[in-house]
Amino acid sequence: MRPHILILGGTTEARELGLALSNRELITTMSLAGRTAAPAAQPVPVRRGGFGGAEGLAEYLRTQRVDFLIDATHPYAQTISANAAQAALQTNTPMLALRRPPWTAVDGDVWIDVSDAKDAARALGECPRRVFLAVGRQELAPFATAPQHHYVIRSVDPVEPPLDVPHAHYILARGPFTESDDRAVLEAFSIDAVVAKNSGGAATYGKIAAARLLGVPVFMFSRPPAVPDCICVATVAEAVAWLDHEIALADPRGV
Ligand code: NAP
Repeated sequence: MRPHILILGGTTEARELGLALSNRELITTMSLAGRTAAPAAQPVPVRRGGFGGAEGLAEYLRTQRVDFLIDATHPYAQTISANAAQAALQTNTPMLALRRPPWTAVDGDVWIDVSDAKDAARALGECPRRVFLAVGRQELAPFATAPQHHYVIRSVDPVEPPLDVPHAHYILARGPFTESDDRAVLEAFSIDAVVAKNSGGAATYGKIAAARLLGVPVFMFSRPPAVPDCICVATVAEAVAWLDHEIALADPRGV
């Protein structure tokens, strides 16, 4: 029997991991939340939509005979990660979290730590600013409480309904974004504040590098705490090595 691997995806790393596993003697399924209307193509079969909480995911692991679970969701996707850990425990399924390490500030960066979108909206202050918001559509609502600012909002899918503020400009685009892409945006809109998640990785670092270059402060969401007691690696290569090790443990004769 070929081992069945379930990857909880929605990130570049999940897609890369799918690719690394795609030509091996495994059954690999990629799970996507289904938020994006036209998600990027995946190298392995995909299932879409929520499972119905930790219980639903546990049920899926049982009925689909999943042997190994890899949580490669975004570092800020807290609910699914907690559900995955709980479902893995309930079903005794070996589980790994694949998480990009956060960015760290370097010389020239001006970062203001904020806990979340609500905190960022407050920290932007009373004086009107020109703000680049690249935090995902689900995090926008709190900025309606700070309507004095002029917002430039970038997202993959349209923001529906639009943010309830008098000045908002929308950019529809899918990463990766380079430093020069994002420098062009910051300059074109005379941006004087960037709001960002500390996602890590290269695909969305362009705005951070561009902000540094232009001396623009970044209001950075702090990372949610890691799920306790979960084995965590930072790279796709480490995730593949973990899987190889687990498969060898489960079947010492080799699969
Ligand atoms: P979340 O708050 O942790 O999850 C909310 C619910 O969405 C979960 O309880 C689960 O529903 C469903 N879900 C999330 N990821 C799923 C997956 N890969 N497969 C199946 N169901 C999933 O997550 P989120 O912040 O909404 O993120 C959703 C997806 O977008 C994730 O796959 C994540 O990697 C990706 N993403 C998130 C961010 C971010 O900043 N949060 C950025 C880029 C990409 P049920 O409880 O019904 O199972």
